Amino acid sequence: MNKPVFRALLILLVIAFPVVAQIKEQNVRAQLGFLASDAMQGRGSGTTYERIAAEYIGSQFRQFGLEPAGDTDSAGAKTFVQRVPLQSGFTWNAIGVLRGTDPSGQAIMLSAHLDHLGVNEALTGEDKIFNGADDNASGCVAVLELARVLAAGKRPRRTVYFICFGSEEKRGLGSRHFIDNPPAPLTQIVANLNFEMLGRPDTKIPPGMLWLTGFERSTLGPELARRRASLVADPRPEQRFFQRSDNYPLALQGVIAHTISSFGLHTDYHRPSDDLSKIDFPFMTRSLNSLVKPIQWLANSTFRPAWLPGQAPTR
Ligand SMILES: [Zn+2]
Repeated sequence: MNKPVFRALLILLVIAFPVVAQIKEQNVRAQLGFLASDAMQGRGSGTTYERIAAEYIGSQFRQFGLEPAGDTDSAGAKTFVQRVPLQSGFTWNAIGVLRGTDPSGQAIMLSAHLDHLGVNEALTGEDKIFNGADDNASGCVAVLELARVLAAGKRPRRTVYFICFGSEEKRGLGSRHFIDNPPAPLTQIVANLNFEMLGRPDTKIPPGMLWLTGFERSTLGPELARRRASLVADPRPEQRFFQRSDNYPLALQGVIAHTISSFGLHTDYHRPSDDLSKIDFPFMTRSLNSLVKPIQWLANSTFRPAWLPGQAPTR
């Protein structure tokens, strides 16, 4: 085959089958290694360490080429961090935007909470730091690495918001503030995928899979699974996980919002032993990679997920 024909064919192939960047295990290890390190002192809600986590995530968003959507600083520049006043002190959200090409402003939202339980000096054992490797440094890493690969690709049709919330462990104060002060009208957000505790496989579901809360409530989960996301229904609906994470206040506002997890009720939950050494990095990387193409499809499609009859959550 002569060279010009070969080159033309190659170009056609790249256009027809754009190469989708993959999430790399070394990046997952690096991000989680920092967020769940002892140095981060368990990212306690409303503490300086939570703020450092938000600033770190914001700096990563900047590195990936996202637009800032947090507060404006004293020099008038937009930042990636949104400061949220609490009764006493503050909590912090990190927000980055991959702007879509569609003028209608339709958007999807990928989120996770960045805080955890901090340090408890009163504990008798030697380990007083709640590192929160699975809860929820793993969810933050999912948002970070999806931001990296989506921002590396072609600009999507829909805008993608990447958000890490503060103070989820304190009644979800970061996400509540975000809902009251959204960067775009909530009616424009066609779907929210919230990531929570997906660093360890759940033995109650098939190997390599993740589960989605409220899978039976809307058309979103089944459609992503149809597009080969490693996603099944939450195997423990009696635990009411759908109502227990940052997707819920959004769902109550009408946004199709679900949480992705693989939490198998391990005994390190909310203990200092929720450490890096317990994370299954090959599992986490592989299952996250199964979401890249379906989420990219969702960001480029006109598909609008909807609640099934009688399944929209109400107060
Ligand atoms: Zn959590």
